[in-house]
Amino acid sequence: MSKPHQITAIKGMNDILPPDSARWEWLEHVVRRVMAAHAYRNVRTPIMELTQLFTRGLGEVTDIVEKEMYSFQDRQDKHGDADHLSLRPEGTAGLVRAVAEHNLLYDGGKRLYYLGPMFRRERPQRGRYRQFHQVGAEALGFGGPEVDAEMILLAVALWRELGITNWRLELNSLGQPDERRQHRAALIAYFEQHQEQLDEDARRRLHSNPLRILDTKNPAMQALVEGAPKLIDYLGEASQKHFAAVQAILQASGIEWRINPRLVRGLDYYNLTVFEFITESLGAQGTICGGGRYDYLIEQIGGKPAPAVGWALGVERVLELLREEGVQVPEPAPDAYAVITGADAVAPAMRCLQALRAQGVAVQMHAAPGAGDAGMGSMKSQFKRADASGARYALIFGADELAAGEVTVKALRDGGGAQVRQPLADPAAWAGSLKSPADSKH
Ligand code: ATP
Ligand code: MG
Repeated sequence: MSKPHQITAIKGMNDILPPDSARWEWLEHVVRRVMAAHAYRNVRTPIMELTQLFTRGLGEVTDIVEKEMYSFQDRQDKHGDADHLSLRPEGTAGLVRAVAEHNLLYDGGKRLYYLGPMFRRERPQRGRYRQFHQVGAEALGFGGPEVDAEMILLAVALWRELGITNWRLELNSLGQPDERRQHRAALIAYFEQHQEQLDEDARRRLHSNPLRILDTKNPAMQALVEGAPKLIDYLGEASQKHFAAVQAILQASGIEWRINPRLVRGLDYYNLTVFEFITESLGAQGTICGGGRYDYLIEQIGGKPAPAVGWALGVERVLELLREEGVQVPEPAPDAYAVITGADAVAPAMRCLQALRAQGVAVQMHAAPGAGDAGMGSMKSQFKRADASGARYALIFGADELAAGEVTVKALRDGGGAQVRQPLADPAAWAGSLKSPADSKH
């Protein structure tokens, strides 16, 4: 029989393994803490939705809907009908669907956040994957500029808590639909005058969604796009006032930003304030977080109209940035490693370990490395494992100790190998001496 070939993960979809997964858990922990500090509550929606939620919500003529979604037809039900489903390419549409479906805004606005995998069939490269993860924050049912500012400050608080310093904030206002219509006419006229410089995507979008052309990543079109009519020059009084109010709050909060008139975001649902946090440390994939106001989305997917604002950040990019910036993330290590010398010691040792764990001590138990009766291995090999585990103490369950109803606690790091005997009968009495002094950053 030939050896079965090794099955690999799907291109652009990554396994998240130790020790890296500890960095993910740490980031998630910080996210939860910062969200709680701002009174944002967690929401979990399905990873799949009806395709039409995204085509209607994100816009037909967007990169995501045109070419990046994983969509398929479900099996037929007993009536012969089959749903068109998509893996979610982003989190806002699903969250908004859930808010509308469950009438979550019945007693006022809600501040919500989510965290989870998203799927886009893009060309995999550094900072760009086919399964990636987002943290998103959304405030629904609030129309004022103070919540736009709160959103931005929330992201800034997250950068601070994570220890990220290399970021800049770009802001723009997309105004309201009628203002966009006027700008759109001017934009079409401008691009029509320069037809020959448009790439294929742009030519296709010229009449369906010219604003999207401004979002192009084609270097050859940058100069053309630079000279295009700016939406910001078409804002009416109310839109200008809203934008000014957001900036006044940011200013008072000591936040710096720069206005980027070309910032239109990749999705159709935005209006008024849009923003991105960008870093210089990650090369081409420098946008770590993007968002804005989307006052018409709820209505668009069939809910009761309500204003909303939100952002999403890319977890992979933020983790990469943490690495680039050399941020130290606490690495998990057990407090103690249990060295167990004989088969007789296993049961009493495990009893003791469970009691210690119940007191909040993290303990790793030595276990037989191989199959069958090969045993636990020599003292020496067990101590090697104990060292590698990062534990500060070894708990030695040997024949001597057992006979005396005790366990030896040996300091592995500081304390130069000092050891004491402790009673097996009452682990709660000495558990405290094993715990790490400062429960690190967690
Ligand atoms: P980009 O311009 O880089 O394609 P985007 O505008 O498509 O980003 P959003 O839809 O705003 O991105 O998603 C919010 C964040 O999610 C991005 O700022 C980025 O950090 C992250 N992100 C988006 N697509 C990917 C991907 N394919 N792989 C990893 N992270 C991604
Ligand atoms: Mg994109």
